[in-house]
Amino acid sequence: MTQVFNFSAGPAMIPTAVLEQAQKELLNWQGQHTSVMEVSHRGKLFMELIAQAEQDFRKLYNIPKNYKVLFLQGGARGQFAAIPMNLMGKKGKALYLTSGHWSLTAAKEARLFCHVDEMNLLEVGDELKTGNLDFSDISPNYDYVHYCPNETISGVEIFELPKVGNTPLVADMSSTILSRKIDISQFGMIYAGAQKNLGPAGITIVIIREDLIGNARQETPSIWNYAVQAKSDSMINTPPTFAWYLCSLVFKYLLSQGGLKAIEQRNQDKAKLLYDYLDNSTFYHNNVAKKNRSLMNVTFTTGNDELNSQFIAQALENGLQALKGHKVLGGMRASIYNAMPIEGVQALITFMEKFEKQNQ
Ligand SMILES: *Cc1c(COP(=O)(O)O)cnc(C)c1O
Repeated sequence: MTQVFNFSAGPAMIPTAVLEQAQKELLNWQGQHTSVMEVSHRGKLFMELIAQAEQDFRKLYNIPKNYKVLFLQGGARGQFAAIPMNLMGKKGKALYLTSGHWSLTAAKEARLFCHVDEMNLLEVGDELKTGNLDFSDISPNYDYVHYCPNETISGVEIFELPKVGNTPLVADMSSTILSRKIDISQFGMIYAGAQKNLGPAGITIVIIREDLIGNARQETPSIWNYAVQAKSDSMINTPPTFAWYLCSLVFKYLLSQGGLKAIEQRNQDKAKLLYDYLDNSTFYHNNVAKKNRSLMNVTFTTGNDELNSQFIAQALENGLQALKGHKVLGGMRASIYNAMPIEGVQALITFMEKFEKQNQ
């Protein structure tokens, strides 16, 4: 059997070791002779699972004590609405820094709830590249500043932290969470849908500084109210227990791999391999500036739609799945999240070389 590598942008690969463990435990979890899906979320064993999951997640990021971690539903898009409902304060205004599809979508949703000012971070030019990221002069006018450190569709990553003074910085980390080390204390809130780098779809992580909790608009539905969720262990309603369980296994797995320092190094090695190859090729192109190249989502094109379609089809025949770029952008995209082994990137490059030779 040829080995298959899945480059899907999300739902994405989950580490094989995690899936194998879940398979082993499926019919008999913790000696219960039932699966984790079939037990009470308020039972002792499940409560222990979520406590351990939070502890492991906190350890991975070294999350300070004055931050809460919530495990919610509704995906990142749910948070696009929950954020203004919860964080809008006396100023009634939020600043959205935009750099691509997801940050623009977040701004559009927030506009349903409050006044939103948008600021484009990308410079105009041949390359996708961020310009000045100092907003400390205007940030005091806003209740919070929102941005997306990794734009999953275009493969634009912002490694530098926007300067926003004391105004809370809110980050959509759906496609970069747990991919590299970050200093949580620099953020007011971080959120991420699980289906890229944490586990399966259906669960959403929120890391939020405690002082930002408790100011939700009065009409905020309880399931979107961070204070209510924080008080009830993220269980105001029945949580997605299986997704939570799989995330707990992923956290354990990442710790066993050496934590974020080791994971970040591996991610850098994988991305470098692919970008170096792209840079040395005259056949494929990537239009993201070096300083903004995503470690997780690598976009490229041959510049010819017909060739791109052939590439995607032939790659699939060679066991390389889901390389089609997002429909708004076209071309190709290789998502190389934590779960993608370096062998997957090597196999992709081997195929790219072959395809280039055949089509030059
Ligand atoms: C995938 C993605 C989303 C959408 O996530 P859902 O969980 O489907 O709502 C939002 N933002 C970013 C950066 C993403 O990668």
